[in-house]
Amino acid sequence: MVETVIVLFNRDLRVRDHPALAAACAEARHVVPLFVLDPAVQNRGRAGFLAESLADLRASLRDLGGDLVVRRGDPVAETVRVARDVGASAVWASGDVSAFARDRERRLARDCRTERLEFRLFPGVTVVPPGLLKPGRGDHYQVFTPYWRAWTVTRWREVVAAPEQVSLPPGVEPGVLPRVRGRPYLPGGESRVWPRLELWLRHCLTGYAAGHDDLAGDRTSRLSPYLHFGCVSPLELARLAARNEDFVRQLCWRDFYHQVTYAFPDISRRDYRPRRRDWNEDKEAADAWREGLTGLPIVDAGMRQLAAEGWMHNRARLIVASYLTKTLQIHWRTGADHFADLLLDADIANNSGNWQWVAGTGNDTRPNRTLNPIRQARKFDPEGEYVRRYVPEINSIPDKSIHEPWKLASPVPGYPAPISAVPQ
Ligand SMILES: Cc1cc2nc3c(=O)[nH]c(=O)nc-3n(C[C@H](O)[C@H](O)[C@H](O)COP(=O)(O)OP(=O)(O)OC[C@H]3O[C@@H](n4cnc5c(N)ncnc54)[C@H](O)[C@@H]3O)c2cc1C
Repeated sequence: MVETVIVLFNRDLRVRDHPALAAACAEARHVVPLFVLDPAVQNRGRAGFLAESLADLRASLRDLGGDLVVRRGDPVAETVRVARDVGASAVWASGDVSAFARDRERRLARDCRTERLEFRLFPGVTVVPPGLLKPGRGDHYQVFTPYWRAWTVTRWREVVAAPEQVSLPPGVEPGVLPRVRGRPYLPGGESRVWPRLELWLRHCLTGYAAGHDDLAGDRTSRLSPYLHFGCVSPLELARLAARNEDFVRQLCWRDFYHQVTYAFPDISRRDYRPRRRDWNEDKEAADAWREGLTGLPIVDAGMRQLAAEGWMHNRARLIVASYLTKTLQIHWRTGADHFADLLLDADIANNSGNWQWVAGTGNDTRPNRTLNPIRQARKFDPEGEYVRRYVPEINSIPDKSIHEPWKLASPVPGYPAPISAVPQ
């Protein structure tokens, strides 16, 4: 039996189905669950959600007889320092995909070697580990449908139970959790997600295919922030929802972008498929887009939902992203950076992967497709209920003009005229 193992948490803030934690508790006498608050990571709009998730994780680990040890600084230096302090012989963690995370893993591996610590990475961030599925040619799937086919027939690992006990070595200073500043729109933490998740699976999963594009109905799971921080295991969720192919397909999209990012770590900065495009550097238009003042109600509603809730419906994300990159022809990075500032669920793989998909520089096999915002609005918000919810200035407009207020005989007080030509 190993004496002491450090389990370094990152975005796997849970005790259920946590392979690294489960293995450490099974194989070591003592386990130190550790989280290092890295000042280099800008959690921006996500700081409150992270703080709540950490407090929740600490409470769960304390219930199991352990604790969450919290440190501040460079995760590599702090992990090695804690390992020395407690006389650990190993550092285990869940493997991640972004360039930043991979660099941290490489540095940890190097410093662990110097310190004669065993460093091991476990699965847990995705359903199927990135890099596991490979097409006939190339090191990763570039197109979703073949990936989906391979993903559905591959054998998934079993869900691992939460440990029954976590035994911390004596005398470890637990450290101070970050303070929760400002309540996040959704409550962070593993114990907060499970009641929501169970309710959603029981009452909403069946209607997912029919309702997931209904903007006003708001019938998607809103699990993305919990998946981002790992408050729920994507594998456990996929197994629980396995009967609904449409929903599981979305989790596969998440895995898909994670394996793309694993193979192309520069995804948040560079075009995945470079296209010669003259991006428009129109600062005023970009500001109007950010502020939800473009004069297109469906675009403005999405952007205002983002500002108000730190979340936006997927259909609205597609519409606002297409409008920015295809209609205004503003660089996808401008949009992705703004999303990264405000979204509770923002992560490198999903955010950059989706932005590049919409902009035509990513994995879409039809890079020139443009979503017509008016047609999209009529189809996915036929009564204008979503638009009225977030753009109150146009509340009094009759239903038939709600998505095209510029067609009214007189302008709507307090609401701008469209800043661009309106696609017909
Ligand atoms: C421009 C743009 C940017 C996006 N940025 C992000 C982001 O930063 N983080 C993020 O998690 N998702 C992002 N998405 C994907 C998607 O919009 C959200 O995952 C989804 O809206 C979250 O809501 P939900 O949990 O209710 O989703 P549900 O419909 O309930 O889906 C369940 C889960 O499947 C995953 N999923 C669903 N759709 C996608 C998708 N297209 N790509 C990858 N995973 C998906 C998510 O983890 C989601 O929580 C983006 C989409 C677009 C078009």
